Amino acid sequence: MTRPLQAIVNLGSILSNYQQAKTLVGGSVAAVVKANGYGHGLTTVATYLAPHVDALAVATLEEAVEIRAENVSTRLLVLEGVFDAEALDTAIQLNLDLVVHSEYQVELLERYHQSAVNTALNIWLKIDTGMGRLGFHPDKAAERYKQLHSLSIVESVILTSHFACADEPEREENVFQLAAFDAAVRSVQRAHDELFESRSETTPLPQSIANSAAIIALPAAHRHWNRAGIMLYGSDPVNRAVDGSVGKQSLACSMTLQSRLIAVRSAAKGESIGYGADFRFSEDGRYGIVACGYGDGYPRHAGTGTPVMVDGVRTRLIGRVSMDMLAVDLSCVPQAVVGAEVELWGPQLSVAEVAECAGTIPYELFTGLTQRVPRVY
Ligand SMILES: *Cc1c(COP(=O)(O)O)cnc(C)c1O
Repeated sequence: MTRPLQAIVNLGSILSNYQQAKTLVGGSVAAVVKANGYGHGLTTVATYLAPHVDALAVATLEEAVEIRAENVSTRLLVLEGVFDAEALDTAIQLNLDLVVHSEYQVELLERYHQSAVNTALNIWLKIDTGMGRLGFHPDKAAERYKQLHSLSIVESVILTSHFACADEPEREENVFQLAAFDAAVRSVQRAHDELFESRSETTPLPQSIANSAAIIALPAAHRHWNRAGIMLYGSDPVNRAVDGSVGKQSLACSMTLQSRLIAVRSAAKGESIGYGADFRFSEDGRYGIVACGYGDGYPRHAGTGTPVMVDGVRTRLIGRVSMDMLAVDLSCVPQAVVGAEVELWGPQLSVAEVAECAGTIPYELFTGLTQRVPRVY
């Protein structure tokens, strides 16, 4: 008998969520599959999506190498870019799109250019409009653009930035960031027009700023390219519905974390359950032990009361989550016996709700799922 814990991944749901993103923006959408495909499995998700998407995006070169090793030739963007000359070599061999966010990356390209290798890179020039993480100051955008555009190895430059608060669309920071981005784009456009002495009817430069939240809730941020991550995996970061639905967009659920009861026990009034004897039954009761713990990536900070589905009935976690197990109250599930099906999150119980109970976000629960959990497609 194998351990009953599994993450059941619905690849069709991920694709249908991608198509929802496409419908919302009209333009191109890069499917973000970084961090092991948000826990769903990097190469399985990437190879499945590849024929259907405008581009894939990952955080690191290592992730891109894994995807290319599967013979995926779809356009593939590395969101952190490369950190040294060797990595740039690899990126060029693998025909990757690269973000350039720092001087040292411009210098790497300049040095490569001097070796006069025939190549045609798509560079995503990152502008820091308020996230305060990666990218050039908006005042530097035009200069960097000219520098990059003068390199024969650079085929195209896409202007890009990232929101800090898009999951709260009413925040004024979004307005400021969008204004800063548009101002930077205008300055780059002027520099571009000077370089090419173009006439009035210039086509706008390719741009990208929207993540999932902006795709869903900030239409003004929709541009040529958009980057959908968490929404592909059925989680709406804006309308964080905690009622078991996944929000207004009715995204399709992409993962069910499923297990079974491996023990059923009764407790007398006053008996404690689990580490720290944190939970005590206030009257005689019945409870079950589920094969799933923080060693699998279930959040240890999910306390007593966190919802769990047992045999189709919504009940609650009790006591502290252990490394390999957790306990659930069976007072309201009298029919549950050993082997009863348990849904930790999935279509009946949103990952957002579990995340909320653990003081975190669906991103962390998905990416935190450990290797011990078999992914079943
Ligand atoms: C991860 C990431 C995304 C995707 O963000 P979601 O909120 O998951 O849609 C988009 N852009 C950049 C730069 C990222 O790092």
